[in-house]
Amino acid sequence: MSVVHQLSSLDVNLPSPLQQLESPLLSEKAVRVFLKRDDLIHPYLSGNKWRKLKYNLIEAERQGKDTLLSFGGAYSNHIHALAAAGKIFNFKTIGIIRGDEPRDLNETLRFAVNQGMTLQFVDRARYREKTSSEFLTELRNKHGDVFIIPEGGSNQFALPGCAEVVEEVQQQLGGQTFSIMTAVGSGGTAAGILSHSAKIPVYGVAVLKGAGFLLEDIQRLLTEKPEKFTFFLDYHFGGYAKTNEVLINFVKDFKQQFGIDIEPIYTGKLMSALFDLIEKDYFEPGSTIVALHTGGLQGYKQ
Ligand SMILES: *Cc1c(COP(=O)(O)O)cnc(C)c1O
Repeated sequence: MSVVHQLSSLDVNLPSPLQQLESPLLSEKAVRVFLKRDDLIHPYLSGNKWRKLKYNLIEAERQGKDTLLSFGGAYSNHIHALAAAGKIFNFKTIGIIRGDEPRDLNETLRFAVNQGMTLQFVDRARYREKTSSEFLTELRNKHGDVFIIPEGGSNQFALPGCAEVVEEVQQQLGGQTFSIMTAVGSGGTAAGILSHSAKIPVYGVAVLKGAGFLLEDIQRLLTEKPEKFTFFLDYHFGGYAKTNEVLINFVKDFKQQFGIDIEPIYTGKLMSALFDLIEKDYFEPGSTIVALHTGGLQGYKQ
């Protein structure tokens, strides 16, 4: 069965729910905040990782490839989603994992193996070469004619899937104006939203330190300079996957206040940035901001 055919019968929660947050601060500042619940799309094909994979699967099939190969760390949400997608859509999958093979696989990697993924561990120095043509040729020699997806799933085929978020929110808000805010790891999600012809204003929150270079990556994916992109670089809490007590407490309080799970690596930094900016009157009264709940809860619960 073709990918497109299977997609039409896949049990996914799309359009994902758009949920308004209510709090005294939001009322006081007259700012409307909605969470786009991409974390609820599917138990395994969750969040932006599914949005980014969708058109990659279609393209892989179009190219006649039966194996998908990609890259990630040991807790990668992308590797998790890729393994699940491979199983559901009948692709073989290979995960090139950063670091030495651990004695015991963590839950993310165990899940991947259970979905049928083959893991290949490479040391950190080698992993850094993951986009070099020499390394990619070596991987093709070893694994055959595979469809290679970059780390995080962020390539040109990731864009249309992420742009569908804009389509959905436009419908859900019935034509009201809004901006979108998202966590930025590799920039593919932000680029995809910016690629939509509606040119919605996008606020990106970098989850790693010194992330200015990602602006170029986003521009490269878009093949043009994004018009309405604001990139916040100072909400990384010390770097990728770094946390502190303030952030951990924010994540806990958020769950208490709104009853919604977020995690400290992406969505916690995003929401903490959003609330900080609201407190500082960054947004005009009357603005509507749609924050993307990009998922990622699988890596946090373990
Ligand atoms: C990967 C990821 C992101 C970052 O998306 P990019 O497209 O890499 O910028 C945000 N949130 C979650 C939960 C993720 O897993």
